[in-house]
Amino acid sequence: MNRKSPPLHAPRKRRLATVSLAGCFGCHMSFLDIDERLLDLLEYIEFDRTPLTDIKTIGRCDLGIIEGGLCNAENVQVLREFRAHCKTLVAVGACAVNGGLPAQRNQHDVGLLLRDVYCTQTGVSKGSRVPSDPELPLPLNRVHPVHEVVQVDHFLPGCPPSADAFWAFLNDWLAGRTPQLPTALIRYD
Ligand code: SF4
Repeated sequence: MNRKSPPLHAPRKRRLATVSLAGCFGCHMSFLDIDERLLDLLEYIEFDRTPLTDIKTIGRCDLGIIEGGLCNAENVQVLREFRAHCKTLVAVGACAVNGGLPAQRNQHDVGLLLRDVYCTQTGVSKGSRVPSDPELPLPLNRVHPVHEVVQVDHFLPGCPPSADAFWAFLNDWLAGRTPQLPTALIRYD
């Protein structure tokens, strides 16, 4: 990783929110891998809703970072709220960009899958049922990438995108440039 910090330019502190939908938090971990450069970043941004601060509600934000696709009704609700509150939305990671690993279930019937996992798999207790507590979000028939539900302004591919990719993106964005990652930072694995 290139440890040298590129210069950051921004006229005021921008508000940034992040969320994980149907993802594994690996993209958030990669974002945190910018390590001490986070301190530079905090000169120019402040966090709104994000697992990094545990703030649970979103206010007006300049940038929303979305990890993960949509596999249930709650994901859709959270994403729409993010879109409504964020001037700019970026889908980060394979799950947000194209559904990623969770979308492998799209080739199967979700009802059959649930019955298989909760009722018929080896080791499942006799009489086990598919959980149906009303507090549980309803699963969608298929996993959707973010752009199939709301408009997305930027995509950061990779599983996960590297810390340097996050850093380059944020530098461009803070400087008012259209984020354009160098080829070396674009990956699809
Ligand atoms: Fe995890 Fe990869 Fe999905 Fe990011 S893209 S949430 S690292 S599985």
